[in-house]
Order: sequence, then C-alpha cells, then structure tokens
Amino acid sequence: MNCPTCSGDCVRPAEEILNELFQMYMACGSCPPDPLFNKSAPFYENIESSTGRCTKCGKRHLDLVIGNVLAILKESGLFPRDAALREVGTPLIAFGYQIPYPPRLGDKSLVLIMDSVTRELADKIISDVPEVKGVVKRTGPPSKSIGILDTDSAPHTYELLSGCDMRCDVVFSTFGELCIYKNQSKVHIEFNNTKINKIEALYLNGELDNAVIVDGLCGPGMLGLLSTLGGAKKVILNDAWLPAIQNAILNIRMNSGALGVRIETEEAEEAEEAEEADRSKLIGGEPVLVAKAKGRTEIFVYHGDIRALGKEVKGCDICLVDTFPSVNPAEHAALCRDFARKVVII
Ligand SMILES: [Zn+2]
Ligand SMILES: [Zn+2]
Repeated sequence: MNCPTCSGDCVRPAEEILNELFQMYMACGSCPPDPLFNKSAPFYENIESSTGRCTKCGKRHLDLVIGNVLAILKESGLFPRDAALREVGTPLIAFGYQIPYPPRLGDKSLVLIMDSVTRELADKIISDVPEVKGVVKRTGPPSKSIGILDTDSAPHTYELLSGCDMRCDVVFSTFGELCIYKNQSKVHIEFNNTKINKIEALYLNGELDNAVIVDGLCGPGMLGLLSTLGGAKKVILNDAWLPAIQNAILNIRMNSGALGVRIETEEAEEAEEAEEADRSKLIGGEPVLVAKAKGRTEIFVYHGDIRALGKEVKGCDICLVDTFPSVNPAEHAALCRDFARKVVII
C-alpha cells in the first residue's frame, strides 16, 4: 500500500515492521563509534551529508544527522554560529519505540519537528540530508495539543513544510503489539505507557473478554485497537477530527493480521466516498459510519462528535474517554454513561 500522504513506502504492514524493528536502528559491526557530542554546548563541527556515514550499512548516528541539519541552518544565517545540536528541534524516528542506544539512521527515517525553519530551508534539508523524511514546523507552544480540543474549537495543526510526516509508534502490551501510524503534523498522540497500562488492567480483570468497547475520542485508534487485540468482540472507534479517523482506518489495515479482521471492501469504498464528500468537513457532528472491519472481531469507525454518539451506540460494556490533557473529561464521561455500562477515563 502506498503512503496516503506522499505515495511512497512509509506505511507497511505491522508484521513487516515488527520483524525488522530490533535491527532497524542498530549499529552494524562496521559503524563508527558514538561521536559523543555535547548536545547543549555550542557546536562547531562542520557536518556534510557524507560525514560519518557507515561505509558498510549506510547508516549514520542521530547526532551526525542533526549536526548536518544544523550546518544548513547556520549556513543560511537563521541560526547563530554558536547554536547547539539541541536547538534544531525534536527528532522523531519513523518507527518509534524506546531504543536503549543512540539510533543509527538509514534513508528517510526521521521526522523533524522544528520551531525555527522556513519552507525553503525545509526543502534544502530534505534534499541534502537523506535520513530526514519530513520537516514539520511547530506552531504555538509545545504544550498545545494538535487536533481539536472539542468540536466547538478551531483545529490546531502543525505545518508540514517538506517531505512526509507519516510515522508510526510501536505499541507493546502484555497481549500483543500494534503499529500505530499517524500524520505527525495533524494528529496528537501523547505516547505514554500509562494509557497502555489502563487497557492492560482491563484485560487482566477479564473486562475485555467478549466485551463491546467504545473508544469515544479514538485519535489514530491506539486504545480501541489494543482492546480488540485484548479480546473485545466488538469495538467502536469514534473521533470528530477527520485526519485522526483517516489514520485510524489506515491502522486497522496495517494491523489487520494481528487484529484478525479485514476492512469490508464495499464499506471501505463507501467510506472513501463519504470521506471525499466530507473532506470539507474536517470536524464531524452527527456520527457517520465511515468504515467497518470484520473477522475475529468487529470494528466500526465513526466520524462524529462524542456528544452525539448515544444516537448510534445503543449499549456497550466500556467506553474509553481519552481527552487532551487540558480538557476536563467529566462532561464527555457523563454523556457516555447513557450508553456505557462503565466509563474509563484514560
Ligand atoms: Zn509518506
Ligand atoms: Zn554500519
């Protein structure tokens, strides 16, 4: 399947990723040692696109890649001569998981979130630094979440300046793994184990077994799909933010092996048509069924406001409510109690 953002090979089935993951960012026997740069000190090394690349595996240490980007920023005059590596921005590896060593990067393996950059410089970074696949400009303070707080607020997005922002976080749980793809400039995901632990706790209590689970503010679908993996018989994903829903549908496809489901073609086509028709409508209101997957379990995907979800969902065992950190989940939780036997605030 081609990447929906750049038509490249950014999205691949979870099985393939999991097979390669532990080698993906590892140094080979011939890789040069860690350059041991101080990331906070003024950085004067002149790093070009060939500097420090392993002649055998072709990968480079993360700090050399960032140093290469910093050299471009300094040359342009945007950054002072004494800027430090740390000032470049936030590097996100394309397939994220906790790596116990500094990653060695191959081609198109890093998305950079930057505060100070122009479109022209972003294009230059993409063309001159082969490891960087996307440059995203952050707008607003780092604490401000991407997406929509609720359906009454204007969406807040970062700006993809060059390349592709599609990347993936690999989720490990006691009952299986998932690859959760997202467009990093449009979809917020606070990636932390606490959320995963809450789903694991439900699993260990036997509460997912054969249950009907609603993930009311699903984003790219991590918690709902994790519940599917944990034994739920029916899972309803819902979000009002269209980019999140598009990522959630992609994640069902990319994890369909582990989830034991297939997106029903007809429904998928209808969903695409519905999405086409709805493209002007980034923020959903009345929930619209946009995709359905069947197999070992059933997954229904709705684009709509959680506050209207009771019209579509007549009953469920557990409704997960995962709001942005700045939103009080009480209002949503109260409404979800109309159709859910139990509401779990994540
Ligand atoms: Zn892409
Ligand atoms: Zn190497």
